[in-house]
Amino acid sequence: MKVERTLSIIKPNAVAKNVIGEIFNKFEVSGFKIIGIKMMRLNKKQTENFYHQHQDKFFFIDLILFMISGPIVVSVLERKNAVRYYRELMGATDPKKAIKGTLRAEYGDDYTANALHGSDSIKSAIFEIDYFFRSDELS
Ligand code: ATP
Ligand code: MG
Repeated sequence: MKVERTLSIIKPNAVAKNVIGEIFNKFEVSGFKIIGIKMMRLNKKQTENFYHQHQDKFFFIDLILFMISGPIVVSVLERKNAVRYYRELMGATDPKKAIKGTLRAEYGDDYTANALHGSDSIKSAIFEIDYFFRSDELS
């Protein structure tokens, strides 16, 4: 197994619930090392660029409006097989289908407001980490 990095976003609905600390604790007890953190509010252009692969999907506009609706917390997580393990920790995209104990089951409200984002491959993780962090901002 290889040590990898993945990008996490705590989305606006989860930030609004005051559970940033709880979620970071879950990352840490699940074996992830948090090597970069930023809290920010994205604008429309930044969000559209970040989610460019979904631009033709029916949910794109709702996704963009949701992601700019409030502050988010972006972090870089490191561990062996980080991409796969982090997606397991998040659970299914639709919180209603996410297994009990996963983060989306616990903090997600609906398909769009599903509390967390995670990179879906090593290639996307590289693009996404670079989108938010300079290399000297990661420990
Ligand atoms: P993420 O990329 O946020 O980690 P994911 O990889 O599980 O989630 P994607 O298919 O990449 O899912 O979709 C990106 C985001 O778009 C989802 O997290 C969700 O917020 C929203 N989304 C995806 N599918 C739907 C849908 N059918 N209806 C509404 N929103 C959706
Ligand atoms: Mg995705």
